[in-house]
Amino acid sequence: MAEYADHEGSADPLHKLRHSTAHVLAAAVTELYPDAKYGIGPPVEDGFYYDFAFGKPISEADLPAIESRMRRIVHEDRPFVQETLSRKEAVDEFTRRGQDYKLELIADKVEGDEVSVYHTGDFLDLCRGPHVASTRDLKAFKLLRVAGAYWRGDEQKPQLTRIYGTSWPSQKELDEYLRFLEEAEKRDHKKLGKDLKLFAVDDRVGPGLPLWLPAGATVRRELERFIVDEEIARGYLHVRTPDVARIELYEQSGHAQLYREFMYPPMRFEDGEQLELRPVNCPHHIVVYQTELRSYRDLPLRIAEIGNNWRYERSGTLVGLNRVRSFALNDAHIFCAPEQLMDEVRESIELATYFSGVLGIDEYRYELATRDDVKEKWMGDEQQWREAQDALAAALESMGQTYTIKAGDAAFYGPKIDFQVKDAHRREFTNSTVQVDFQLPQRFDLEYVAEDGSRKRPVMVHRGAAGSMERLFSYLIERYAGAFPTWLHPVQVVVIPITDAQVDYAKSIAARLRARKIRVEVDARPERMQRKIRDAQASKVPYMAIAGGREAESEHVNVRDRAGKQTDEPLDEFASRVAAEIAERRR
Ligand SMILES: [Zn+2]
Ligand SMILES: [Zn+2]
Repeated sequence: MAEYADHEGSADPLHKLRHSTAHVLAAAVTELYPDAKYGIGPPVEDGFYYDFAFGKPISEADLPAIESRMRRIVHEDRPFVQETLSRKEAVDEFTRRGQDYKLELIADKVEGDEVSVYHTGDFLDLCRGPHVASTRDLKAFKLLRVAGAYWRGDEQKPQLTRIYGTSWPSQKELDEYLRFLEEAEKRDHKKLGKDLKLFAVDDRVGPGLPLWLPAGATVRRELERFIVDEEIARGYLHVRTPDVARIELYEQSGHAQLYREFMYPPMRFEDGEQLELRPVNCPHHIVVYQTELRSYRDLPLRIAEIGNNWRYERSGTLVGLNRVRSFALNDAHIFCAPEQLMDEVRESIELATYFSGVLGIDEYRYELATRDDVKEKWMGDEQQWREAQDALAAALESMGQTYTIKAGDAAFYGPKIDFQVKDAHRREFTNSTVQVDFQLPQRFDLEYVAEDGSRKRPVMVHRGAAGSMERLFSYLIERYAGAFPTWLHPVQVVVIPITDAQVDYAKSIAARLRARKIRVEVDARPERMQRKIRDAQASKVPYMAIAGGREAESEHVNVRDRAGKQTDEPLDEFASRVAAEIAERRR
């Protein structure tokens, strides 16, 4: 069912198709496993799923049999028939079928006495539709995988088996989608992270706490250098502040009250001290602002840091580098006079756009997240919120950017612009954000000396321009399928001597390249050259420099790049070419 759930009543033809396929999946499962209980089965982006409780666990090996039963149901041309039952009739019917989850949904979700159900042959689901007319309308579908899922997403409730599938109007579209999945899987950052030795997750350290291995740490160092240098060039002041602070700091900022669910429990010491791992950097940067009396001449004051943040995500939600329990945010807080706000917002957007351009983040859109309607979820007054929202919208519009409004998605202290980026799996995530905040300046009683000598209150802009290092890295791994642009790649050149006689020459090549700050390795293993070339290709190194007797004599290198292009060139020319490519951060 899908029904009596979020996407309910969606008339989108693809949703209808997938929702209908989910019913057929549940019908097939109940025919093959009469003791199976079915939970919910909504359409999702690109497909659908259905959650079941099986008497005996099933695995992916069981999917082909289920799929073939589904095909039989399609072939039988069973109509989807809606019926309205009274609450009692519905309860009796699902009781008779032993479908406890449906009974729970009827109790929780159905209002009034009328319960809408759908028949597909003998299969009955609690559902408001709409559906396709008949199972014959399902043209091309495939079951993809099984996963565990808690009933209604609640860890306290039983764990069910979720079967994922996809469904399309034609075989051609299904084939295209399956090809896309295959490609996305090859690019999966968890897989490549392991194959290319970029990062590791180890249970002894804990889930959601990735270890950056030497190759991954090299990429991260390059990213951080790039980000920090660019920000300094744009007038940011980079600071270093601690990962912990007294709990009182977050009480003053409001995080301890309004952000509690994401925070680690405080560390309590015998002397009464309570320290808290910081979930955000803002309060620390505010304290930096307050280390001296600021004047209007100091503004805008842009305080930046790649700061570690700690947020306790539930273990079930942790994924590779995408959902972690500690991450380093490319963060900044801009303290400015109200009349400077618009320019600062614009420049923040421009910086994020610049980073995106260099890093190859091509597919993104802007979202303007506005205030929640629930008063408990935000602080401040209506007027300030309206001003802040208007300032963000005006900044985007003045840059000729379009955006969508996401009502209720703002931070508790102010509205924000999110850059929604699509990853290799076509999933969206928020990479960069620009937020306007009148509240924290008030809570911390921030001020500056105005031109006329009076004390005034600055406005704060919170902005993350390149997102978190973890999320950004995971995106880049998938974006480039591990073949990072040369300036980012962990190893930029691998030198391969053809025989042992050229090992010394190979080492001298490496030394010459290193002198130009090129990251280079010599593959002097006693392996055959073809094997070395294959291994270098597998590591996606941008350049292989092959050194034989002829090259040694003429101080040349035989260069092969990642695209398979081969050239023979003087060593110095090659070194200059690669150094220039790195310096320009060419994609
Ligand atoms: Zn349904
Ligand atoms: Zn902040």
